[in-house]
Amino acid sequence: MRAVVTGGAGFLGSHLCERLLARGDEVIALDNFVTGDPKNVSHLRSDPHFELRQVDVTRDVRVEGDVDLILHFASPASPVDYLQLPIETLEVGSIGTMHALSLARDKGARFVLASTSEVYGDPQVHPQPESYWGHVNPVGPRGVYDEAKRFGEAVTLAHRNTHGINTGIVRIFNTFGPRMRPNDGRAIPNFIRQSLAGDPVTVAGDGSQTRSICFVDDLVAGILALADSDHPGPVNIGNPHEISMHDLAAWIIELAGSTSVIEYIPRPVDDPTVRQPDTTLARHLLGWGPEVDIETALRRTIDWFRTESQMAHRSHLP
Ligand code: NAD
Ligand code: UDP
Repeated sequence: MRAVVTGGAGFLGSHLCERLLARGDEVIALDNFVTGDPKNVSHLRSDPHFELRQVDVTRDVRVEGDVDLILHFASPASPVDYLQLPIETLEVGSIGTMHALSLARDKGARFVLASTSEVYGDPQVHPQPESYWGHVNPVGPRGVYDEAKRFGEAVTLAHRNTHGINTGIVRIFNTFGPRMRPNDGRAIPNFIRQSLAGDPVTVAGDGSQTRSICFVDDLVAGILALADSDHPGPVNIGNPHEISMHDLAAWIIELAGSTSVIEYIPRPVDDPTVRQPDTTLARHLLGWGPEVDIETALRRTIDWFRTESQMAHRSHLP
């Protein structure tokens, strides 16, 4: 198979490239590095089946030769990133998605859109099944991301129905693991970075809001199961392991062996109160469910951040 991964130098994209190559596929990663980094795939560059191209997918997405699969993952994903890049986020979710769909149409390729649990907004149904329409504020600060993804879903379905493209939509719930940017602003990289530095760990509000957190290896397995099927989705992929942000912060401090204290900071506007995937569809349709337990996954991620920060420290030594 020959696969194109947009956003291939990002956190999830780099893991997808790695897994596709490991199973023998050829991979072309397209990225403009706005929130990603070529370093995330530097270990793949010697593989003759891998190629990284600097491309802004809102301008054009052209690839020569056959393409069997397009995984469209380009988009800022952290709230801090998309609030700094509001127009770019809307453009990549709309124009970028349409360009990637055109490539799928030209090549007769299977197309998978990276959508998000954010399409459910601040949900009034809990846990969230795919049939729930969501509770999103289009004119709130998060609207730039939520509506970009909701448009992405609609335009994907329209291309499927109008042009017969073999499309799939995955709604990804909060995922963590190695290669998250330590300063990307999301809770887990913040909590780990702060714990390892002995800095106060910043918990928003009273920390009672919950998220359900999934290890990247499990997520990638679910995405590839959907990619290998013909199912249109949307399908939730995430680990139903739900935890409050206060408890998550305390757990990470403990696992990191840190003396950090918790500091309470203001809660962002429209920050969802709860979030948990109903994964019944993924289990029945794809035979998929998360396998890595969260404590093991947090330990592995903390170890990765520790090694990265030691390497960064060493590279600054004279
Ligand atoms: P990330 O920021 O690490 O990766 C996104 C990548 O897309 C980056 O490498 C960035 O440079 C690239 N990109 C952005 N705009 C681009 C453009 N115009 N052209 C080319 N490349 C562009 O984020 P991530 O966590 O790996 O998220 C990847 C995808 O998964 C996103 O679409 C995100 O919305 C979705 N998602 C992620 C999560 C999660 O928990 N990580 C949850 C839900 C959805
Ligand atoms: N959060 C926090 N401290 C931080 C960063 C985030 O308490 O330093 C909170 C944030 O307000 C939200 C939750 O953690 O309630 C998850 O935030 P994240 O940005 O990781 O993901 P998302 O909001 O997109 O689910």
